[in-house]
Amino acid sequence: MNYSGAFIPTLREVPADAVIASHRLMFRAGLLRKLANGLFAYLPLGLRSFRKVEQIIREEMDAIGALEIKPTVVVPGELWKESGRWDSMGESMLRVKNRLDNDFVVSPTAEEAFTAIVRDELSSYRQLPLALYQINTKFRDEIRPRYGVMRGREFVMKDAYSWHTDDKSLDDTYQAMGRAYRRIFKRCGLSVIPVKADSGAMGGSGSEEFMVESEIGDNTLILCKKCDYAANSEKAACAPDFTPSSSIEDAKAAAVNTPAFEKIDTPNVKTIDELCAFLKTEPQTFIKTLIYRAVNVELDLSSAPACAKLQRKKPSAEAPAVYTEAFFAVAIRGDLDVNEVKLASALKASEVSLASDTDVVRLTNTPVGFAGPVGLTALPLIVDRTVTGMNDAVTGALEKDLHYKHVAYGRDFTAWMIEDVRTVKAGDHCSLCSGELYTKMGNELGHIFKLGYKYTRSMNVSYLDENGKSQMPIMGCYGIGVDRTLASVIEEHHDEAGIIWPVSVAPYHVIIVPIKYDGAVKESADKLATELTSAGIEVLLDDRSERPGVKFNDADLTGIPWRVVIGDKGLAQNIPQVEIKRRSEKDSTMTDLDKASADIVKKIREEIARLNN
Ligand SMILES: [Zn+2]
Repeated sequence: MNYSGAFIPTLREVPADAVIASHRLMFRAGLLRKLANGLFAYLPLGLRSFRKVEQIIREEMDAIGALEIKPTVVVPGELWKESGRWDSMGESMLRVKNRLDNDFVVSPTAEEAFTAIVRDELSSYRQLPLALYQINTKFRDEIRPRYGVMRGREFVMKDAYSWHTDDKSLDDTYQAMGRAYRRIFKRCGLSVIPVKADSGAMGGSGSEEFMVESEIGDNTLILCKKCDYAANSEKAACAPDFTPSSSIEDAKAAAVNTPAFEKIDTPNVKTIDELCAFLKTEPQTFIKTLIYRAVNVELDLSSAPACAKLQRKKPSAEAPAVYTEAFFAVAIRGDLDVNEVKLASALKASEVSLASDTDVVRLTNTPVGFAGPVGLTALPLIVDRTVTGMNDAVTGALEKDLHYKHVAYGRDFTAWMIEDVRTVKAGDHCSLCSGELYTKMGNELGHIFKLGYKYTRSMNVSYLDENGKSQMPIMGCYGIGVDRTLASVIEEHHDEAGIIWPVSVAPYHVIIVPIKYDGAVKESADKLATELTSAGIEVLLDDRSERPGVKFNDADLTGIPWRVVIGDKGLAQNIPQVEIKRRSEKDSTMTDLDKASADIVKKIREEIARLNN
């Protein structure tokens, strides 16, 4: 391809809203333009790299036996009503009505569409396992799209879904997907951090996220300095820094030397810091009690205190009862924070948040700041594991300006539920090896997940087993953001001058820069381009009548992995010479013109092989 006809509108200026390297460079190198906030058009150079990422994903999906299909982007709203997500998806889902007043959805994700397709075709266990995927456009009406295609409104995802007769079969596909994901990211030249969900409702190995380090990442990762433990802070666990009680008897025994709890006057003292100053002690000696409001709770609350103001929604034999709203008290050691994602997962709730002051006063009958676990009968009490090791603590006394001291778990109060809900932070210790934990910010590129029966149940999918009995298949889902993967490649591979593409996803492999596209130079450049092209190498030939400096800058900015400079001086040598330079390296080498083609082909093949293995 000749540069002059390639439509590569490079820019000197950086767009004002571009704060990250990939956003800046995709605009400056002429890969991308903005149509509206969060809506981007790929120009020819950008689309070439985009297609290569897609193709790597496609090859790896095909290699594990997943089958590509192409559903529509616009799907009937009915499917979303069936799954129950018409109500729960909220404002980020773009809904439209057609001229007949029918509801449609511009797909934000595709569980419903895939499940509906399979439901209509599935009849026998012989059709399973089945894994289908698409590489398709999605839309989410993000409130604040930012960082270019890293967080756009319209984007492309590879999403795969699988159906199985049993857990073993699901696990086989899940593991194969995990291996395929590792290959995909490696082939794209990306260093990913696989993060396993190691707690919560879905069990030990039911979810794995593939993260890249990013200062603007949405996720805080907790990593171990000594082993390969990596977890999302939303789910991270850590080694206990306390001695837990294994039973109530155990806890009572530990409190045998603790005096009976007693009230202390704490006038105008509300926060932990104020209390520490007042009592001249450390936050670790306090139990703080927080009141949370949870919505769409699927946990069985029949044994919970009645005045938790519970409302049931559509309980039935098949569907578990859902409580649209419920309140809980959470007791945790004073120096720690409650992790709301862990709490929501423990309560099987779609969302938890701190209760309003009005609700706190109404439910505890106490001004805000004096809640405590002793005598708190109005709410189910969730006790963080740390608290089970506390046998001489200070707590709120459920009365204004009063606290209790000498409070012991097990003796003075018990839990409705004991759970690990603490936020793990840098400096805590690894639960696997006791190494010190540290944090990194990360962006999620991919996620593999055992879905279970959520959609096959709500959307009524079944097949007949060997005995002719109707069964429900179990599902897995597996996503990769294509745009985000591409942007992350640039984040990881760039310098001051521009992009440094790994050869596997570069828009072209080689850029040939004739100093002056004329005469013998033109002849040699054209010949080299033809030789390389016929060897399957993708060549961009800079045929423009620009100054060499301009051409070199554009070559660096667009990040083509290999640059060949051809000039009169080199050609005038005894044996005509060209200059070959790798974009990622500082120095160039002179090579015989007639060996240049074979030399470049060899280097590119070696590099692709290295990324593929
Ligand atoms: Zn460790």
